[in-house]
Amino acid sequence: MAYSWLMIDPEKDPESAARFGRMLLDWYDAHQRDLPWRSSRDPYAIWVSEIMLQQTRVAVVIERYLQFLDRFPSLLALALAPEQDVLALWSGLGYYRRARMLHKAAQYVVEHYNGALPATADQLRLLPGIGAYTAAAIASIAFGQVIGVVDGNVERVFCRVQDWPAITRSSASRLRRSITTLVDRIIPASRPGDFNQALMELGATVCTPRSPQCIICPVAVDCSTRGEHQTAPRPAMLSTEFGCALAVRTSSYPGPHHLEILLEQRPDTRSVMPGLWQLPTLTDPTVPEASLRMTLRHAIMRVNYYVRVRTVLAEEVDSLTRPQGERRWVPQAEITSLALTGLTRKVLTRAHLMRPPLEGIQVPALTVP
Ligand code: SF4
Repeated sequence: MAYSWLMIDPEKDPESAARFGRMLLDWYDAHQRDLPWRSSRDPYAIWVSEIMLQQTRVAVVIERYLQFLDRFPSLLALALAPEQDVLALWSGLGYYRRARMLHKAAQYVVEHYNGALPATADQLRLLPGIGAYTAAAIASIAFGQVIGVVDGNVERVFCRVQDWPAITRSSASRLRRSITTLVDRIIPASRPGDFNQALMELGATVCTPRSPQCIICPVAVDCSTRGEHQTAPRPAMLSTEFGCALAVRTSSYPGPHHLEILLEQRPDTRSVMPGLWQLPTLTDPTVPEASLRMTLRHAIMRVNYYVRVRTVLAEEVDSLTRPQGERRWVPQAEITSLALTGLTRKVLTRAHLMRPPLEGIQVPALTVP
């Protein structure tokens, strides 16, 4: 793609690129959100945040990031931990493969790099679970490598600034190449990590998908479209119904009136969420009103699950549920140490059988400019 007609043209008009970078960084210095990983220079902490932020909302990541670093404060601590402990801390974030790969990569770094993360994007890409985007993000933010990071937010900003068409399935790879080339040409060598974060921040907070706030945008002067860009239609969500059983009994161990909850572990052979613990699945998701404990919506990728949760007595479990793995009556006090599916965590929290994840952890206020 030629750059002759672009607003940001690093070859024909180097000043336009320099101005764009200056305005963006000035805005970022003044308005960036106060996110816990931004106060850290520790490559391990930055790596954890980048993995957690993949496909997960910032507000959710803040909670889990602080808990995760509290439990695994160093790369070595993570490498030495059992996988089930890592998955338990990941519970609620979804996409559990990320946690497994993070754990494996930590062990690899201990074995092959003496516990210190390698400093370049090319080396980082060799680690389990680290693709081109994450490698560039860690290398630029933690080690100052001058390399661009292009995520969906950055793509949207440049499609609008340059008046390129919104990315579609057929145009994706060509446009992404053009945007990556452009970012690599205009990224300032003095602050590559901040520049990358500023671009992503602009897309996340100002140049948002549905309602860009051009009036407060720091790069509006260099933007071709200023709110007039054709936004790609949002893909439709699918929906399905689902039922799960909440079976609770009292136990005399470790003392009178302790509660136990029936959970089952998904087999390791499952392609989705292997090894995670869940509530038993109802054979029939239609639940009589008298037994209905709660209803909730749980979204996974592009599917909305409308879930009915039924109170089930211990003696009804076999007739009302379909076994999907090994079952165990788990004492309430042990539940937080298990790797739960996000849905199970949500149900148990709403049923007041489990504490919300943030209790006992201090979280900084999230400020949006
Ligand atoms: S001016 Fe508007 S459309 Fe252009 S980059 Fe800024 S927020 Fe996005």
